[in-house]
Amino acid sequence: MSTGRILAITNQKGGVGKTTTAVNLAASLAQLGKRVLLIDLDPQGNATTASGIEKQALEKSVYHLLLGEDEVADVRVRSEQGGYDLLPSNRNLAGAEVELVQEIARETRLKQALEPELAHYDFALIDCPPALNLLTVNALTAAHALIIPMQCEYFAAEGLADLVNTVKKIKARLNPALTIDGVVRVMFDNRNTLAQNVSDQLKTHFGSKVFNTVVPRNVRVAEAPSYGLSALQYDRSSKGAQAYLQMAQELIDRQGNAHG
Ligand code: ADP
Ligand code: MG
Repeated sequence: MSTGRILAITNQKGGVGKTTTAVNLAASLAQLGKRVLLIDLDPQGNATTASGIEKQALEKSVYHLLLGEDEVADVRVRSEQGGYDLLPSNRNLAGAEVELVQEIARETRLKQALEPELAHYDFALIDCPPALNLLTVNALTAAHALIIPMQCEYFAAEGLADLVNTVKKIKARLNPALTIDGVVRVMFDNRNTLAQNVSDQLKTHFGSKVFNTVVPRNVRVAEAPSYGLSALQYDRSSKGAQAYLQMAQELIDRQGNAHG
């Protein structure tokens, strides 16, 4: 692949595994030899922390990028542990939401910032906030495709209908080529009948877009971020780390089939 593919890890619900998927996919793709840029687009800065970067101490963040004050090269830091580059964030980013409203081309700020960088990466992963706000619209406008993490619960499936509607609107107005690259089942508990049912519904609805890889609920995955590590670095042999590695390989294989 010559230029990078921008993937927005998105789901309008909070606590469904977006950040966990973004960070672990970034580390796993890097481990598999891919050049990865992770973009933390959530003012909570959880992806920044999980990448081993102190979010309070940032001189520059995605905030400066979106407001056009700085370029990617000024904002980018290296996650040494993860083996990828990061555009970090902290609470300042919440201000960008408000300030951007006054600006011209406010929906395309991230796209414009990322485009000149794509030659340097195989994948750019955007960790989205849990809302449909201007930050998320920037992500969906910049992205080639979406990755949607899903907890297989009844209400999770309901939220997905909202997301599908949002994608339709973004396609109509801002990003006609946007597609869904995959739906990934996360925090999965296969002893739970409801989870099995929702999983079957997902496959009916999304077909081959559902990743074969299922990420199980795994305590090592939940523990890793507090050490500033991905599951892969924290406990490589854990079921969670192995699942994200497998998902990364599946993603690479799919891109190869689709574009090569
Ligand atoms: P979001 O970014 O969508 O808000 P997070 O990735 O922060 O969601 O995940 C929400 C919570 O669930 C976090 O505490 C995280 O550690 C935990 N979590 C995510 N994936 C797993 C998993 N596979 N196993 C166990 N805990 C998980
Ligand atoms: Mg998050």
